[in-house]
Amino acid sequence: MKRSIRTQMLIQYVVIVIICMLVIPAGISKLLDRQFRLFSSDRLLEDQHEAVRVLEEIYGREGYWDKSALSELRGDILRWPMIHVALYDPQGALIAEFRRPMRHGSMRGAGMINNMGEGQNFAGNGWNELAMSELPVFSNKKLAGKVRFLSLPFNDSREGLFLKKFNSHMKYAIGLMLLTAVIISFVMANVISRPILNVSKMASMIGKGRYHADEGLKSDIIELQILIDSIKRLASGLEEQEELRKRLMSDIAHELRSPVAIIKSHLEAFEDGVWEPTGERIKLTVEEIDRLSKMIAEIERLTSVESADNGISLESTDMSSLAEKAAATFDPLYRSKSVVLKREIESNVMLAADAGRIRQAVENLLSNALRYTDKDGSVTLSLGRSEGDVYIRVTDTGIGIPEKDLPYIFERFYRTDKSRTRSSGGIGIGLAITKAIVEAHRGSVKAESREGEGSTFTITLPSA
Ligand code: ADP
Repeated sequence: MKRSIRTQMLIQYVVIVIICMLVIPAGISKLLDRQFRLFSSDRLLEDQHEAVRVLEEIYGREGYWDKSALSELRGDILRWPMIHVALYDPQGALIAEFRRPMRHGSMRGAGMINNMGEGQNFAGNGWNELAMSELPVFSNKKLAGKVRFLSLPFNDSREGLFLKKFNSHMKYAIGLMLLTAVIISFVMANVISRPILNVSKMASMIGKGRYHADEGLKSDIIELQILIDSIKRLASGLEEQEELRKRLMSDIAHELRSPVAIIKSHLEAFEDGVWEPTGERIKLTVEEIDRLSKMIAEIERLTSVESADNGISLESTDMSSLAEKAAATFDPLYRSKSVVLKREIESNVMLAADAGRIRQAVENLLSNALRYTDKDGSVTLSLGRSEGDVYIRVTDTGIGIPEKDLPYIFERFYRTDKSRTRSSGGIGIGLAITKAIVEAHRGSVKAESREGEGSTFTITLPSA
């Protein structure tokens, strides 16, 4: 059966409280009862022996039972809970007896004593209810008589009555404590369950897309605070992803719109006869279609690289020859644009890397450097080790990047105004791909640039 955390905690608290409240007082009561009984019977025995001693002294004085000496005792040998002492000679004849005067009905058994006639035997009906004992009285090692004691049973003794009262008070106390404990349990269950409920409410709000609901939620409980912080981090990650997804969709739509519009207008012009479909015009239209296909291919490439975290395969790679090969691939293109491609490549730099992907990242930088560097400019590809990491740097003397654009150039589809107007411009995905590849290698890429002077892109890859 499913139940709320508050109910669960309440049940647990109450069960614990009930067990404690029933077991502990029951134990205490049992222990007290035993101790009191022991104490009470020890004391009774002591008192009875004291009474025997007094009687032995009286007998010892005269050598017979002196009635007047006995009557002077007037029951002084009766100590609570003894209520009746009877002295018999060795033959069993009653010599004297002492009774405790009882308030009428004050004690169980008191009536019986009052009703008991002079000389009546202890063995009468009902007496066995009381505690009875008999002790011999000796004088000069000769039996001088025996004395019978009648005492109230433990339950009617002072200790017994005290215990009874104590137990009944304890029951009320337990009842009261139980009630208090249940109330406290209820409050405690609320105190602990409320923040958990708030956290779960917060999580469900996030699930509905309200990422900033309950932003100020806090807890004094460390584990809950950790949970809240994790959920908040999760929420901001989700929000970021959501934001990226929306932006990506609108960027793609935006990027696709212009070639599609151009193609459409060209085809409509052909259809309406406004334009003759000359080879030149058809070529223009096909170029736009090529642009579209290129964009789609780039988007596919980015998507595949962005999930490279999983697909990346690290192998011992000679980074020096990788850089050389990448540069060699670009040599003809650079030469045709009259841009010099210089190399500053340290030899034998080895690294565990995905060679294919890293080469793609470097080629993106070399392609950009060429694209944004005018005739007679120069580009330098450097590679080496620095503080244990491997760096790959592409420096150009090109158009540079305005300071305001620098933070965004690694974003998908981001292009500076200048590159938008250049016929040779890409679609703004190359650097996003480079960044994704480098990050999949746990590395980083940064750009430094001065508008009109040139740019430097540095990839840093950790060796470990
Ligand atoms: P693109 O395909 O448009 O080159 P990238 O993602 O490779 O897209 O680059 C994003 C933008 O960053 C470019 O449009 C350009 O504005 C700028 N950029 C990249 N590399 C350079 C460079 N070497 N010099 C100047 N601007 C650059």
